Amino acid sequence: MMKTIGLLGGMSWESTIEYYRLLNETVKAELGGLHSAKIVMVSVDFEEIVALKHEGDWDKIGQLLAAAAAKLEGAGADCLLLATNTMHKVAEAIALSTSLPLIHIADATAVEIKQSRIKRIGLLGTRFTMEESFYKDRLIHQHGLAVQVPNDEDRRFVHNVIYDELCLGKIRPVSRDRFCEIIARLVASGAEAVVLGCTEISLLVHPEDSVVPLFDTTAIHAIAAAKWAIAA
Ligand code: GLU
Repeated sequence: MMKTIGLLGGMSWESTIEYYRLLNETVKAELGGLHSAKIVMVSVDFEEIVALKHEGDWDKIGQLLAAAAAKLEGAGADCLLLATNTMHKVAEAIALSTSLPLIHIADATAVEIKQSRIKRIGLLGTRFTMEESFYKDRLIHQHGLAVQVPNDEDRRFVHNVIYDELCLGKIRPVSRDRFCEIIARLVASGAEAVVLGCTEISLLVHPEDSVVPLFDTTAIHAIAAAKWAIAA
């Protein structure tokens, strides 16, 4: 029997839409006919979360998302899919509040990278994801990958485009051009592939924008969850 996916979304809803579509498309492709994914969703008010982020109150964010995860469990979810890279900073707090297995976005992505025999990746995401240890260290220490991030100015640009444009549904060609340059700089300094480590980046950047493979965490995460739900 197909399992029910617990989707914790709204961060931002622009990318949660993509999760919903990809979960259903994957189940349809795997099972055929009118099959579609079994999903329950809790979608947060992202402004509240971002305000807490500016205050640095990650404990409160952890509590809020843990409460959302408990709601998903109560609604019949069999697993938890946290539809953002950055919020995996509080993945442990969330996991402690529920008995549901959490399908970790960095682990799902690392599995794909390793299957391609790629060792050195460039990482794009929010400043939290590019600069802090919760994400990078998992890729480095648990999965044996080498991780490069853009320089400070490029990191600031990527971070600002995520929150000021992509999370608001603004897709600007000038920003895409600058992302292409940033990707090219990562490649020039040795990256064999680039991880789109923010769930909105694939709304802006596409495979043809890069000479090396792009690992889109949104698609990888959603497809991994859909396959888990079918196989479990
Ligand atoms: N969706 C983004 C991510 O994957 C950033 C938004 C956020 O959760 O802060 O990291």
